[in-house]
Amino acid sequence: MDGAAPQAADRGLLDPFGRIVTYLRVSVTDRCDFRCEYCMSEDMTFLPKSEVLSLEELDRVCSAFVRKGVRKLRLSGGEPLVRKDILKLVNQLGRHLQSGALDELTLTTNGSQLHRFAAPLYAAGVRRVNVSMDSMRPDRFREITRRGELAQVQRGLAAARDAGLGVKINAVALKGVNDDEYDDMIRWCGECGYDLTLIETMPMGEVDHDRADRYLPLSLVRSRLERSWTLEDIDYSSGGPARYVRIAETGRKVGFITPLSHNFCESCNRVRLTCTGTLYMCLGQNDAADLRFPLRVEAGDELLEAAIDEAIGRKPKGHDFVIDRRNSGPAVARHMSVTGG
Ligand code: SAM
Ligand code: SF4
Repeated sequence: MDGAAPQAADRGLLDPFGRIVTYLRVSVTDRCDFRCEYCMSEDMTFLPKSEVLSLEELDRVCSAFVRKGVRKLRLSGGEPLVRKDILKLVNQLGRHLQSGALDELTLTTNGSQLHRFAAPLYAAGVRRVNVSMDSMRPDRFREITRRGELAQVQRGLAAARDAGLGVKINAVALKGVNDDEYDDMIRWCGECGYDLTLIETMPMGEVDHDRADRYLPLSLVRSRLERSWTLEDIDYSSGGPARYVRIAETGRKVGFITPLSHNFCESCNRVRLTCTGTLYMCLGQNDAADLRFPLRVEAGDELLEAAIDEAIGRKPKGHDFVIDRRNSGPAVARHMSVTGG
């Protein structure tokens, strides 16, 4: 129709605050082989399989987002590499890289299975992975993860590098737990050729301790690092909320994700899908849209696409995370493993 106003699809997924959603994070399972103490409680109850989207359903919903203009997909969890037949999904989604519809297909993983998956992930078109590693000391690593083997993760990291994958290490900054290790991490990442991102702990889901005890503002970490390293501000963005510096001595990037001490919502371009098909338009808010019903009620994608448009139309302006002594409970009840971070 000549002269008609552009439709939402022409402009991509435009939200009410003028932000265009180009990034979808998908939690492919709520299950995990670790129980990181800041993320899960010791005895988690996982979802019955019937509630979890099948690999075909995950492919359908991701592909609908790609048709609507999403350029970057990140698979997360729980632990994405413990989902049965996960490579089938990664290989399927790889077709969008080949067609040019997608710029990047990537994963956030705890690395425990990376020694097995690094090469097939690369073959499927994955070029970068984020690997969570909160300590470089085996005993401490086991304490934080409650069941992780550091040596196995490091074997996976080496396999990733050998396969040609770019690696970024994610470490949650935890006061009194790993705050004596950031210099070692920077040095080690420099030697191995990995980037590093430090993350402030976020108040999501009940855990077995008081988060205010562990909260460490990254502004403090940054000024401590400046005593040992030359931090050069750089104009790099991975399309996410991290602010990056380059460490002159190692040449590698270090990112800081600071949802609590600095609100990064104004440039938010992402939404998050749980493994049950619930779409969260904001990590720190409870409003959500059910995409499983439209996925399951008809074989075509018309209802699904309408539900996506409707959901993006109510993406909120931002989150209201606070952690202090009076406010140390979770800001949202769900754990990070539900939306995959
Ligand atoms: N299992 C994978 C892993 O650990 O990388 C992917 C899922 S995990 C939920 C994604 C990221 O969220 C990890 O880097 C983890 O450290 C981080 N995370 C989990 N709970 C968090 C919390 N409460 N605050 C900050 N980061 C958290
Ligand atoms: Fe599992 Fe990742 Fe949560 Fe740790 S942070 S318990 S590895 S989902």
